[in-house]
Amino acid sequence: MIRLDPIELATGMYKTAILDRLTGEDDPYSVKTLSRIESTKEKPNMIPSAFESRMVGCVCEEDSNTIVWMWLQKGEPKRCQCGHWFELYYQPMLEVEKSSIPV
Ligand SMILES: [Zn+2]
Repeated sequence: MIRLDPIELATGMYKTAILDRLTGEDDPYSVKTLSRIESTKEKPNMIPSAFESRMVGCVCEEDSNTIVWMWLQKGEPKRCQCGHWFELYYQPMLEVEKSSIPV
């Protein structure tokens, strides 16, 4: 019976995702849903981004089926129509030295 290594068979983004998980990073692109805090302009919900802007979706009502999308710009806190505040903070992109991962 031939045993195949799934990491050796994987390619592209799929392989990158597998290697990221092996390093303990389960959200390398910061796309997980975040829970909001009671926010103000001075204490907004902080949103990670490696760029100058990022699109963010707010589920304004807990039982809502819709998402209110808005662009956040670096250094500019923004208020959603529901009253919650959001602001970007810089988080560099994950760079993993693939050769350092044990196989
Ligand atoms: Zn909202």
